[in-house]
Amino acid sequence: MQGRNLHRLGAAGGQFFNWRFMDSPGWTGAHPFSLSAAPQSKGLRITVKTQGDGSGRLATMPPGTRVLVEGPYGRLHPGVRSRPKVTLLASGIGITPMRALMEELDHVPGELHLIYRASTDEDFVLRDDIDEVAARTGASVHYIVGRRARHRPQTWLPENGSHLGEAEALLHLVPDLAEHEVFICGADAWMDAARDAVLEAGVPSGHVHLERFTW
Ligand SMILES: Cc1cc2nc3c(=O)[nH]c(=O)nc-3n(C[C@H](O)[C@H](O)[C@H](O)COP(=O)(O)OP(=O)(O)OC[C@H]3O[C@@H](n4cnc5c(N)ncnc54)[C@H](O)[C@@H]3O)c2cc1C
Repeated sequence: MQGRNLHRLGAAGGQFFNWRFMDSPGWTGAHPFSLSAAPQSKGLRITVKTQGDGSGRLATMPPGTRVLVEGPYGRLHPGVRSRPKVTLLASGIGITPMRALMEELDHVPGELHLIYRASTDEDFVLRDDIDEVAARTGASVHYIVGRRARHRPQTWLPENGSHLGEAEALLHLVPDLAEHEVFICGADAWMDAARDAVLEAGVPSGHVHLERFTW
């Protein structure tokens, strides 16, 4: 989305807006979408998965469609960070705020980890973009691929990782996780499992930040 003086919105990567796209009579219905890149003064980026009519129509919306924005809102932003080391945990389309935070959170190589979970390789969105940011900033990216574990309902791991403990697997990827600020976004049940694993790994609850895409 393009606009003038967008910096005056005071938005940060990781936050979301309620968007109204004025392309059809249904424009009054707002849809929450997170920024998927750090905001620029001339542009804001979102990345949208088709769930129903409101999200699906974005794929065919004519360039130049006017957009009303309301926000910014949200718990995932640099202001909640009080530790230098950061781990971002995402599943599915929950990657959008995490991708923006990769840019928004200042870090030196080794300080920021992204753990990104999807069912198949094709389900990873923004992968080239994420790899480009990681190469530029020195962030470590861990792609965790595999279908859901059928016999272990409360897990953040795929079936092929179900021989591992929930916290054990996290600490294998990020050994000093207990010292990190942690941000989590993804499917509801997956977020609950990821939060429990993060707490079990020793991160105090005050350093764990979640954004739910359900309402
Ligand atoms: C804070 C926040 C940030 C979000 N950021 C993004 C983002 O960056 N990218 C993105 O693709 N989506 C994001 N979403 C989800 C997005 O807002 C919805 O998918 C979208 O508004 C659905 O509208 P729709 O008209 O396409 O679907 P609807 O017609 O409203 O719904 C279609 C079907 O999907 C189900 N459904 C739709 N959305 C959800 C949901 N969120 N949770 C559970 N079931 C749902 C409905 O129950 C219905 O059965 C975010 C949601 C929130 C709350």
